[in-house]
Amino acid sequence: MGLFNWHRAVIKVGSALIAPQGKDCTGQFLLPIARYISECRQQGKEIVIVSSGSVAAGRSLINHSEVPSIAEKQAMAAVGQTRMMANWARFFDFPCAQILITHDDLADRRRYVNIKNTIRELLNNGILPIVNENDSVATQEIKVGDNDNLAAMVSQVADADLLVICSDIDGLYTADPRSNPNAEFIETVDLVDESIYALAGGTTNKIATGGMRTKIEAAEKATFNGVHTLIVNGRKGQVFDKLLQNEQQGTWFKRQATPKKARKHWLQYTLKSQGSITLDKGAENAVLNKGASLLSIGITQVQGAFQKGDAVNLLDQKGQVIAKGISQYSQLELTKIQGKQSQQIVDILGYCPSDVIIHRDDLVIL
Ligand code: GLU
Repeated sequence: MGLFNWHRAVIKVGSALIAPQGKDCTGQFLLPIARYISECRQQGKEIVIVSSGSVAAGRSLINHSEVPSIAEKQAMAAVGQTRMMANWARFFDFPCAQILITHDDLADRRRYVNIKNTIRELLNNGILPIVNENDSVATQEIKVGDNDNLAAMVSQVADADLLVICSDIDGLYTADPRSNPNAEFIETVDLVDESIYALAGGTTNKIATGGMRTKIEAAEKATFNGVHTLIVNGRKGQVFDKLLQNEQQGTWFKRQATPKKARKHWLQYTLKSQGSITLDKGAENAVLNKGASLLSIGITQVQGAFQKGDAVNLLDQKGQVIAKGISQYSQLELTKIQGKQSQQIVDILGYCPSDVIIHRDDLVIL
């Protein structure tokens, strides 16, 4: 898959575009981005925005010291977040949804699955999710800290295949172009390694240090997870017109594997299996040959003390591992609903967070 053959993109819009003055928020640079998003959606593509700007948007509404304290910044984020959302909403004739998360939420398996389910449901309903860090509740230890890295994490949880980081810089150069006339623009990066990180450091100039390191970190994370990453200058409206005409803009960091392979690798090797679910013949066939999700009716046995969001092995009747996936239910819940119809789940448990036990997108065949 090339750069333009994507289906779902995360578009990260930084504070430099939303609050170029460092306070309040403005639509000044957002129109071309919003038009790009609308056009892509009309082509049947799906978009998730990761937007900064809540702290800046609330800045002038909170009395603060010269260097605002953490509590002052958290209050700014709380009041600024609604303004930032309203600033986006006026560009679209479809609904926007707000999702606020912290690093802790993404690290917690149960909450990770909840975030994933929410994004999936919003996109299925034609709604544009707008994600930001939940700055009002996040203290340093549980924070991602910057929205570049947050956007890379969101691209994984949203199963995106493209990440576009919109900033106020054109992309990556071999040196600082303002002080070095020999600086060359880098159009493509095949692999993020130390030599690429070296381009971000060693200078006090904004072009090289103005968040370039976190952008490279984001690109490394995303490309490793199968997500092509573009760093573009979001202040230049023509960038988005050209992207719509399938012309490459900015610096393109090539993905290291297909999203499917990357997800398989992640599920297979990174997530430790916490238990197992045995399938009957029908479910085995549906999962292996029909690309189906796993339903409660096809489960004959459940083992291991796993929680919602944990990875589990799927076994055939002979006890052989045929697949691995992320369970929407805990082992305790599954022992009560195994072999039952999906419609019975709510009667048995009193709630039904998901009709399927393992969603197809969260399952790999081994
Ligand atoms: N979450 C922060 C905000 O909304 C922005 C962090 C960043 O821009 O990297 O103000």
